[in-house]
Amino acid sequence: MCVGTLSSLVRTRALVLLGAPGGGKGTISKHILKWSGKQAHFQGDNARSRLSHLSIGDVLRSNVERGTPLGQQVGELMKTGALVNDSLILNCLSDEVMRLKAEKFQDVGESSAKAKEEQEKHMHYLLLDGFPRTVPQAEFLVSPEVGIVDAQDSSSQLAVQLDVPVEEIVERISSRWIHRPTGRTYNLQYNPPRAWSAERDPKDGLVDDETGEPLERRPDDEPEVVDARLRTYVENQQPLLEFFTSQDRLIRFSGSTFPDLVGQGKRSDAIVQEMLVNERLNNFWGVL
Ligand code: AMP
Repeated sequence: MCVGTLSSLVRTRALVLLGAPGGGKGTISKHILKWSGKQAHFQGDNARSRLSHLSIGDVLRSNVERGTPLGQQVGELMKTGALVNDSLILNCLSDEVMRLKAEKFQDVGESSAKAKEEQEKHMHYLLLDGFPRTVPQAEFLVSPEVGIVDAQDSSSQLAVQLDVPVEEIVERISSRWIHRPTGRTYNLQYNPPRAWSAERDPKDGLVDDETGEPLERRPDDEPEVVDARLRTYVENQQPLLEFFTSQDRLIRFSGSTFPDLVGQGKRSDAIVQEMLVNERLNNFWGVL
């Protein structure tokens, strides 16, 4: 089926996750995906969950690793902690959204007689992790000409800001290790790999639980790059929050209504608990 047909049959709603690098966007995305998979199961929709997770940072890293033209263009810049320019990001976003939509809804539209009925039924939910990072990116997402989200639908987009203290973020990033081939992430404080004990130097042979292969730091998790990423975040975040506030599309979570979890170093879990009981967020998910 051609991409244009798919766009007209499947509408899209986007949940935008905003917050500092290392502030738990990835962890919270995993919780939301798990939850949506369960919902799909309970509704007898085993074949698919209607939610796709998209981290532009992951897409860029994968391009850098594969040495694609995009990867070659952005690799050096990403090592500095600066943002990639908007036009590259917006192309990348449009391509990825189309790909994800086609992947989730490949069977839609095959019986054109039922097209109208299908349109009512099919809603693609996008969980955008790390996008937008600038106001022009945010404007792009809601622009009717671009058509990523359904401009007619007043609930087509909601932004969630994760408020996490900077000291906690720095500590979290400094103990983050990844298994590069799968992207599995460990934190030496909260979920260390099984074969590691606190007495050992982290650089000394950390291995992945599943494959036994060595773990690495993300190159942009090195301390000087983290400083630059946090500075970039602080510069861009306020205008972005103002943009979403002016549209009445922003909800903020800090986990502080679950002080016990925060005290145990489980802020992301506390934030997830807050999200689960948030009425506005629950309305946003609608039929999911
Ligand atoms: P992340 O994993 O989301 O922290 O992204 C890692 C890096 O990818 C960032 O430091 C930027 O260089 C780049 N990047 C990711 N998302 C964006 C975006 N929306 N706009 C510009 N650059 C981005």
